[in-house]
Amino acid sequence: MTADGTEDATQGSLFGQPSRAEPRPATRPRAMTPAAARTLAASAAEARAVERPPRPGEAGRTTPMMEQYLRAKAEAPDALLLFRMGDFYELFGEDAVTASRVLGITLTSRSKGEGAIPMAGVPFRAHEGYLQQLIRAGHRVALCDQMEDPRLAQGLVDRQVTRIVTAGTLLEDDLLDRRASNWLLAVQPDGERCGLAWLDVSTGAFSVADVPVARAPDEVARLDPAEILLPESLLSGADGPFVQRLRRASRAPLVRGAEWTFASSNAHTLVKEQLRVASLLGFGLRDEAPAVRAAGAVLAYVRETQRGAAPAVSGLRVHDPSRSAALDRATRGCLELLATQRDGRREGSLLAVLDRTATAMGARLLREWIVSPLVEPARIVQRQSAVAELLERREAHERLLLALSSMPDLERIATRLLAGRASPRDLSALRAGLRLAPELRATLAGCDSAPLAQAGARIEPLPELLDALQRGLHENPPLQLNEGGLIAAGWNERLDGLRTLRDDGAAAMARFQAEEAARSGIASLKVGFNRVFGYYIEVGHAHADRVPAHYARKQTLAGAERYVTAELKELETSILQADEQARALETRLFLELRERAAQDGEALRTLARAVARVDVLCGLARLARERGWVRPEVDDGDLIDIRDGRHPVLDALLPAGRFVPNDVLLDRDAARLLLVTGPNMAGKSTYIRQVALLVLLAQMGSFVPATSAHVGVVDRLFTRLGSADDLAAGASTFMVEMTETAAILNQATSRSLVLLDEVGRGTSTWDGLSLAWAICEYLYEAVGARTLFATHYHELVDLADEFPAVRNLNVAVHEQGDDVVFLHRIVPGGTDRSYGLHVARLAGVPQPVIERARRILHDLEQRAPDLRPGAGEAPAGASEPPPVTEPLFPRPGAAVLDELAALDTDAVTPLDALLLVRQWQERLSVADGAAP
Ligand code: ADP
Ligand code: MG
Repeated sequence: MTADGTEDATQGSLFGQPSRAEPRPATRPRAMTPAAARTLAASAAEARAVERPPRPGEAGRTTPMMEQYLRAKAEAPDALLLFRMGDFYELFGEDAVTASRVLGITLTSRSKGEGAIPMAGVPFRAHEGYLQQLIRAGHRVALCDQMEDPRLAQGLVDRQVTRIVTAGTLLEDDLLDRRASNWLLAVQPDGERCGLAWLDVSTGAFSVADVPVARAPDEVARLDPAEILLPESLLSGADGPFVQRLRRASRAPLVRGAEWTFASSNAHTLVKEQLRVASLLGFGLRDEAPAVRAAGAVLAYVRETQRGAAPAVSGLRVHDPSRSAALDRATRGCLELLATQRDGRREGSLLAVLDRTATAMGARLLREWIVSPLVEPARIVQRQSAVAELLERREAHERLLLALSSMPDLERIATRLLAGRASPRDLSALRAGLRLAPELRATLAGCDSAPLAQAGARIEPLPELLDALQRGLHENPPLQLNEGGLIAAGWNERLDGLRTLRDDGAAAMARFQAEEAARSGIASLKVGFNRVFGYYIEVGHAHADRVPAHYARKQTLAGAERYVTAELKELETSILQADEQARALETRLFLELRERAAQDGEALRTLARAVARVDVLCGLARLARERGWVRPEVDDGDLIDIRDGRHPVLDALLPAGRFVPNDVLLDRDAARLLLVTGPNMAGKSTYIRQVALLVLLAQMGSFVPATSAHVGVVDRLFTRLGSADDLAAGASTFMVEMTETAAILNQATSRSLVLLDEVGRGTSTWDGLSLAWAICEYLYEAVGARTLFATHYHELVDLADEFPAVRNLNVAVHEQGDDVVFLHRIVPGGTDRSYGLHVARLAGVPQPVIERARRILHDLEQRAPDLRPGAGEAPAGASEPPPVTEPLFPRPGAAVLDELAALDTDAVTPLDALLLVRQWQERLSVADGAAP
């Protein structure tokens, strides 16, 4: 379907049926200028719904267009094919069915009955929104575009697949989250090592890393990619353990990459070609390194999806994972770093509280900083020094904030420039950004701290480019390239001349209207413009008798007639021609200007990255100032000593002064394991998370909410929630809880910080308690990690008797009669009772039930003073005999012996006896493993 419908008319349409045949316009302007053709195209689109009846014998025949379609489809068989026809992208067959379901668009079918082919279409002008929905729904989409101007095409319009759009290769601002990176990640395991390469095509940021296979899933979790590319062989057949771990680490789709793209010879050649280097040794990479193979696969995939166009990538960063603390997915989730656990939203996360950045570039960098806390005190101190300096130099800080607040996303603009896709608006945004650069540079030049001074040096204002944009680009250019209004007056003489001509034409048209009105005596006569047939004269029906004979009628409206005259059409032609020529020239001049800007693309990227750093640091300083945060002292030691620490998120959400601050003292020698006991809802979970968040903030270079803080850096941070808590979030089971716990026990080091929250809860009381005990012992003795364990198993307080560096803490409560007030204050010592009944009452359990429970509890306490609270909260295993007089540790066998002694052998069946023996055996073996 072409602008004027000729393709349908001459060739029939796809699948032997006319697709959306359009009536030829009844008349055409005399001179078919491009502008006039555009108006025609628009009217043709309006008439799109009109069908041409099928021609006899047409059905079932293979048409050239159908062949074209099938060829395109074969190029990207696993993608939905959007086939450009005039003003629409059309989908056919299965693709149409899928699209109509996902997008909620109408499914049509051209022929009725046998051989009917479903079709659906989306307007070209609005296709990005639909693309986004399809990608979000997990589809890949191939775009098949018209490669030539349909009006100029001889015969069938040439069409080619120009792009395969996938979640990891998005370029369009509208399809991307402005404030988050969009990584395409390739993973190449190789023996003990694993190569990773990740690229954001929208910014050109490209990195590789070589990590131990065991750490790969954590890195994947950290990156949170949009799409993960794996060698085909790993994804054929059932998932192996490695792939399973990747799936747990990320929700991104796993995509098969062709095996050869991961092959060393292809990969290193492609990587070198892209980076324009002869050797990768400068990056510290061997040609056959797994990271290089992954990098090659990423580049090959991008080329495939962009149909050969190389991505706008010029540098490569070799990421050293040992320079940041790893956070696995579970830890990120528990700590709600980027999104809340309950509903996955940004609000309520650490990111939401921390993000005071002014630019999208800064926002993206901040996310990276949050999930990659540093481990080297020297680097941390550098960032801190910048934040401190901004706090001190308030005026400089304000100036920077002001400049940043109107800074556009230079990083993505630079990438679009380098890819030859920048829009007129991009250039005007770039101009605005460059205008701000000198101010940023000058302010930063006055700063002493290394990060700020260095960033200042990297902000090259590019005065020549700015000058070209100031003088050349229109002050307020449109979004599209072909609408005119791109170039400023005075930039090009010929353009100015054409514009005068066109504007004179408009004045001439006004004169023409006045003259015609006078000549015909119809004062209300008006000249108008219409996209279908251009200029016309409009006369109300009331004056029909006075219309001159040489007026040719064009259109009848409810209240008026529209006419044209030869003179009018001549005038029109000269106006349209001047307009047309002006537009063509403007487009050319704009492309030149864009080309000019692209030459500075790399410099712009450097500038953008420097601005991003400054933005993040300014944001952190702003936060520290507004919320009264302090600079933590950071070193390589084992001490974590925080006074009056506050949970950064809760503190920000609660009314000022409501959050109760708490101290923490962790030290490998004196306070290695802190056991936090206390009733439900007292604040245990909040407290231990607060410690982790403050450590993380300190290690990313931020100030922290506390009156003072000392942080001996941790190499890894682990957090686990007992599955009873996690069940609320959805998919967890005790198995997951234990798998994750096993991962901690196997991976944590003596420099790690481990947080366990109600671990062991997902099973029956005695199982859970025994496991919790054994896990604590192992972390304490074998691993030696600094650990915080929040638990309602108050029995664990006995650990402190066994190990010198175990400290018991509990959450203070204030009792008033039957009422309990949670003070949220952490105090030394263990608890010996829980407040399950109180919580049950708060939760609305009816009073009679509470009363009855109180009596039962009282009874139990009378009968078995050793057995107090745990049973009130934990899911008690129904099958287990109540260990009435048995203190859990350290007399495991005694209770069994007592029961054996008391057993009435006449009263049990042989089968029951057998079961009892088995139970006893089990209890003995569990106790063996757990008790000291
Ligand atoms: P637990 O883990 O002991 O059951 P939580 O840590 O989940 O308790 O805390 C329960 C609620 O108590 C939190 O949602 C919060 O509203 C409040 N809370 C916890 N700690 C504090 C604190 N230090 N200051 C103020 N409110 C707190
Ligand atoms: Mg809790």
